Amino acid sequence: CGITACVGDGDVVDTVLTGLKNLEYRGYDSAGIATLTDAGVQSHKCEGRIDDLVDELGGVDLCGTFGVGHTRWSTHGKPTDENAHPHTDCTASVAVVHNGIIENHAELRGELSAAGHLFTSETDTEVVPHLIEEELAAGKSPEAAFRAAIDRIEGSYAIAALIEGTDAILATRQGSPLVLGVDDDRRFLASDVPSFMEFTSRVVYLHDGDVVRLTLGEHEITDAEGEPVSRSIDTVEWES
Ligand code: GLU
Repeated sequence: CGITACVGDGDVVDTVLTGLKNLEYRGYDSAGIATLTDAGVQSHKCEGRIDDLVDELGGVDLCGTFGVGHTRWSTHGKPTDENAHPHTDCTASVAVVHNGIIENHAELRGELSAAGHLFTSETDTEVVPHLIEEELAAGKSPEAAFRAAIDRIEGSYAIAALIEGTDAILATRQGSPLVLGVDDDRRFLASDVPSFMEFTSRVVYLHDGDVVRLTLGEHEITDAEGEPVSRSIDTVEWES
C-alpha cells in the first residue's frame, strides 16, 4: 500500500525499487513497476515480495527516465499477479498505480466494458487507465485526459500515471497521502516521505485535488480546477 515514482536524467529503475523497499514497513501483498521511454510503457508486477519482483526483473531489460512503483494491499480482487499494479489500458500505452478505493468502479467498469474495453484484473484501479485511454481516444491531450478521468472517479486515491507521448509523470490525490520530493535534477513522488529519504530532504505536501506534473528537474502543481497553485517546499530533518 504505497506509491513511489521518480523522474531523473538517467535510468530510474533502481531508484524506484529503493523507493518501494523503503515503503515495505507499510505492509503489502504484491509489487510492481512501470517505466516510460521513447519505446513506450513497460511494466512488471507480481504477487509477493519486492525481492520476487527484483528477481523477475533480473531477466528483463527494464530502463527509463520516468518510473512508477507500487506495493499493494488488496481491497478489490485477491493478491495475484494480474491484480498487482501497475494497471494498463488495452494498448498498454498508459500505466497507473493507485492507493485507496474507487467507490464507483463497478459502474465505470460496466460503461467501459460496454464501450469495448477489455479488463484483465478484478481491481477497482483498472478503470483508471481505461478511462484515460477513452479520453485520449476522444482527442484530449494526455494531461487533459488524466484530469477528465480523475473527474469521473469517486473515492479515496493517490494515483500516478505514465502516458505514452508525455515527457512527464502525472499524479493526483484525494483523501490518500501523496508527497513530492525535490532534488536539483530529479523529482520523486511517494505515499510517505521515507520512500525517498536517501535522495532528498526537500518535500512538498500535496493537497487533496492537486494535480502534479513531474518533468526533468521541474514540477508544476494545479488545483482541482486546473489553476496553477504554489505549495511550499519544506525541509525534513532526519533523526539519525
Ligand atoms: N484498491 C486497490 C486494489 O485493491 C489499491 C489497494 C492499495 O491501496 O494498495 O488494488
